Amino acid sequence: MRKMIIAGNWKMNKTVDEAINLINELKPLVATDAAEVVFCPPTIALMAAVEAAKGSNISIGAQNMYYEESGAYTGETAPNMLTSIGVKYVIIGHSERREYFGETNDTVNKKVHKAIEHGLIPIMCCGETLEQRKQDITIDFVNQQIKVGLLDVSKEDAKKVVVAYEPIWAIGTGVTASSEQAEEVCAAIRATLTEVYDTDTAEAIRIQYGGSVGAGNAAELFAMPNIDGGLVGGASLKADFGKVVNYK
Ligand code: PEP
Repeated sequence: MRKMIIAGNWKMNKTVDEAINLINELKPLVATDAAEVVFCPPTIALMAAVEAAKGSNISIGAQNMYYEESGAYTGETAPNMLTSIGVKYVIIGHSERREYFGETNDTVNKKVHKAIEHGLIPIMCCGETLEQRKQDITIDFVNQQIKVGLLDVSKEDAKKVVVAYEPIWAIGTGVTASSEQAEEVCAAIRATLTEVYDTDTAEAIRIQYGGSVGAGNAAELFAMPNIDGGLVGGASLKADFGKVVNYK
């Protein structure tokens, strides 16, 4: 039985003080055993966020990390910098990283390996553009992202990975994929995971949906058999996130 996992991607929002305040405000609203709850604030606020979340059910995740251990990589964050302060998750290959910062399936794969090596749980993102959906190549495109992203990741390690299916046309647009559209792709991802690994592994991997999830649509999306929670942007920055987490 897969445990639901609902993560908030704060993107480039909130100073350290604002992050602490938001965590304190949301703490009572997201208190539940029914789902894992992850907040992903900006790098600068991670340490304060880990402190602020202590004693609650909230885990902290980073929005990115680099795939080398240390060295001349100006501006980057190494995996042990994250683990040393108590960060547990890391978003890898978000479409904004792919679009604005040159991330590819190959760099995603390197980061997934490195995160797992350090005991960080990768939230590996995938998803198609509107153009690709119109061309009817969504499933092939997403499956390729999954296959390359998980290349040479063992069965046992793959079970730890969280996949986030995020159609790019639904991110930050207020346009959500219908629950049928989201389920269709998440089911296809699980079929690919079965093909690459086996049924046992594919059934263990959690697949989130992301793209304009909010209090009004979480229940319908999260009720789908292959959707095991959400990666939430805008709605994770406000009290609404409590409703998303307590969607039932
Ligand atoms: C995201 O940033 O991953 C996301 C899904 O954003 P939003 O919920 O705002 O669409």
